[in-house]
Amino acid sequence: MQCDILTLFPDMVANVVSHSIVKRAQDKNLVSIRIHDIRDFSDDPHRVADDTPYGGGAGMIMKAEPIFRAVEAFGEERNQYRIIVPSPQGRPFTQRLAEELSRESRRLVWICGHYEGIDERVLIRLEPEEMSLGDYVLTGGELPALVMIDAAVRLVPGVVGDPTSVEQDSFAEPLLDFPHYTKPQTVRGYQVPDVLLSGNHEAIRRWRRKEALRNTYSKRPDLLQQESLTQEDRQLLSDIFQECECRG
Ligand code: SAM
Repeated sequence: MQCDILTLFPDMVANVVSHSIVKRAQDKNLVSIRIHDIRDFSDDPHRVADDTPYGGGAGMIMKAEPIFRAVEAFGEERNQYRIIVPSPQGRPFTQRLAEELSRESRRLVWICGHYEGIDERVLIRLEPEEMSLGDYVLTGGELPALVMIDAAVRLVPGVVGDPTSVEQDSFAEPLLDFPHYTKPQTVRGYQVPDVLLSGNHEAIRRWRRKEALRNTYSKRPDLLQQESLTQEDRQLLSDIFQECECRG
């Protein structure tokens, strides 16, 4: 996975990608992340890359020309890369999109907006994909770009040591993850469920499946899709419903 991030705040981005799993993925040459300061492509002596909006109004707009130059500096044909502009107006970013990006063979280029946004001609000319983190407005595209990269990088084969851990994560199926516990066995009177100490692998698998279904049913019932449920899932869900009725 090859990532290029175009930003007005390179230090902010560099700091995040130089830690933890994303850093190790780069050290192992599974992922490359290059950060480009859009100001380097400004022809202004003070490296200005934004200006006031035509028509008046609040805020500054990122100028188009420095962004065009930054993209052209890659020196590759447009079809050699996939451009993403984080935007509250974009397609919602999901685990499916993260999977898609993790498998992308083309270079992935994020153009991070800031202030009131980017001159519309960047969108008209480069035809990027706009992707949104959600229905709220952030100050810039750096955090969304980092979120997207983080979500995709951990799905690149070899990045996370044990691949079953990402296969079992929330949304890997349309299901939330099951609860996790670590040592010690008792914390302030709270015990680890007995089944996890039993050493019975089949009982543990079944318990985890049931708790994943319970989590999904109680927290995100919209995710439960009848057609993707196995016979065992239906049985476990029916047990969960009965337990709820008994308690209720
Ligand atoms: N005026 C823009 C609008 O209302 O659509 C919002 C601009 S916002 C203050 C500045 C930048 O933050 C955007 O250009 C975009 O790159 C990023 N951004 C803000 N909210 C976002 C979101 N929910 N998802 C992805 N990017 C976002």
